[in-house]
Amino acid sequence: MSTQKDYYEILGVARGTSIDEIKKSYRKLAMQHHPDRVPEEKKKEAEEKFKEISEAYAVLSDAQKKDLYDKYGHAGIDSRYSTEDIFRGADFSSIFGEGGAFGGIFEDLFSGGGFDIFGGGQSQRRSGGRGKGEDAHLEISVSLENVSTGTEKEITFSRFDACVKCSGTGAEPGSSRKNCSTCGGRGVVSSGMGFINFQQTCPSCQGAGTVIEKVCGFCSGRGRTKSQKAITVKIPAGVATGSVLRMRQEGHYSPGGRGDLFLHINVNHHPLFERDGDTITCKADVSLIKSILGGEIEVPTLSGKVKMKIPQGTQPGTIFRLRGKGLMNLRNKRQGDELVEIQVKVPTKLSSKEKRLIEDWAKLRGEAV
Ligand SMILES: [Zn+2]
Ligand SMILES: [Zn+2]
Repeated sequence: MSTQKDYYEILGVARGTSIDEIKKSYRKLAMQHHPDRVPEEKKKEAEEKFKEISEAYAVLSDAQKKDLYDKYGHAGIDSRYSTEDIFRGADFSSIFGEGGAFGGIFEDLFSGGGFDIFGGGQSQRRSGGRGKGEDAHLEISVSLENVSTGTEKEITFSRFDACVKCSGTGAEPGSSRKNCSTCGGRGVVSSGMGFINFQQTCPSCQGAGTVIEKVCGFCSGRGRTKSQKAITVKIPAGVATGSVLRMRQEGHYSPGGRGDLFLHINVNHHPLFERDGDTITCKADVSLIKSILGGEIEVPTLSGKVKMKIPQGTQPGTIFRLRGKGLMNLRNKRQGDELVEIQVKVPTKLSSKEKRLIEDWAKLRGEAV
């Protein structure tokens, strides 16, 4: 970790560059180094480079993370923000090992930007062919309270499902599939050039070996139609902005199978709490008298108000720690703390009697007023 390169350097931009410029530079580099765009022998190298720029982008494109990075460098960025596995098809489940905490639905959770740049083109499979359906991506906003307890949300989105008329076969009911005449049912066709013989997927049946006799009139043979789908998603406690949850087999349908659904988490800003990993911070107002004499104050937590004792002579800016009142750490499942920063409120309006008392007090302490 100590040999990490500077994120600005990686993206070839100067410190203080606008997020727009950072985005532009990232896009350019990502296109250039995308592993799908380089020859086989350079793939390994390109993947490394691509990971590097994606990680840099994930941090610098997020105002909060960028701020932390600017202040503290790599140490300011929790390792959870690395984008180890943003590649399509990578085995995300490795990040969270057993991953059983998500009730078996969510296999993984990772964080990162970079997803948007390839847009809908991420899935290059032919829609409506015999390949697997595309992955679907949705952004979900949750409150900090939701993050604290975990939550369930019902979401509605537009996705491809099996055609109701042909049940996904693409064939008009009553008609069936027949052997493909182009490839004779083999699914592949050969073309020869001298001694070299190429085999390629049959263009007529997309490798299925069979073709539809009479195409379904409802879906034009695609086997699928788009509709609104409502599903309930479980969001585990401890997620952060940039977390991505994957729900297997909840993406778009295609006769070859269903893609996955990726939920990109966005945590709304909270009016009272700042978040740093699993620690939350808030400010508590304390009267001047209480700060001098000590006593009990009420402080907000994510699960409601609690009483907290402050000692005599509590200075402004003192930070108290409420153990276990922070957020759950997704990896070790430990509960974080809440930090309460004391703000002393000095009275601005005094009655003449109060003023006299304070003047007397000043005399008592030998202070000239
Ligand atoms: Zn149909
Ligand atoms: Zn064929």
